[in-house]
Amino acid sequence: QLSKRLQTVVSFIPKGSVLADIGSDHAYLPCYAYLHGYITKAIAGEVADGPFRSAKQQVEKCGLSRVISVRKGDGLQVVAPNEVNCVTIAGMGGTLISNILEAGKGKLTAVKRLILQPNVGAHIVRRWLLENEWELIDERILEEDGQIYEVLVAERGNPYRPYTQLHVELLLGPFLLKERNDVFEKKWALEMKHWRDVIEQLKHAKTEEAMKKKQQFVETLHMVEEALNR
Ligand code: SAM
Repeated sequence: QLSKRLQTVVSFIPKGSVLADIGSDHAYLPCYAYLHGYITKAIAGEVADGPFRSAKQQVEKCGLSRVISVRKGDGLQVVAPNEVNCVTIAGMGGTLISNILEAGKGKLTAVKRLILQPNVGAHIVRRWLLENEWELIDERILEEDGQIYEVLVAERGNPYRPYTQLHVELLLGPFLLKERNDVFEKKWALEMKHWRDVIEQLKHAKTEEAMKKKQQFVETLHMVEEALNR
């Protein structure tokens, strides 16, 4: 049984896609996507030896070696230009996801949809999308095994379209802010508590660096409080 997190990612793959799943680890995602009729072919990319071998084994075990090509390499380097039309990158930090997209921009020309699942730092991914003319078209937030995850879906288009208050929505997610489900409320209540704790700890801060840090937390806290109290 595939995790709810990865099932959510798969649910956004357009039917009939040719997929690249980067950082595929056990290749659970492309195997599931093929067996459930989402994709006709896939590349499972892995940079590390162990996960690369796990991916190969899993694909063989499922009897899918003809349709899922497991390749070893860094990010989108494993993909040839125009080879895929959908890319998934899940289970990494937002900075790593953005770096992979940035380094592999040239491989995205035929790609119609990106489905990205940053474990942390979703705002870094939203910013990359914005700066690279990818329009965020949907988002999900979910909780599984005590962890909160965000899934971002993007297509080429007007990258500013989903945003009405750019700064705060890059952080919170424009679709997630509109929906404001329980998981979203929980995530930001926890974040705000953390920021208030840090601000309290830095109350008597004297060094310029600490004061600057405190000021940043205060500003972010006020921005988020204001957006959520509207
Ligand atoms: N995508 C799977 C998931 O969401 O369950 C696996 C997530 S796992 C935590 C992250 C995987 O990404 C690891 O197997 C790691 O080796 C791989 N990885 C990290 N950086 C990578 C890169 N630059 N290119 C390809 N794979 C990478």
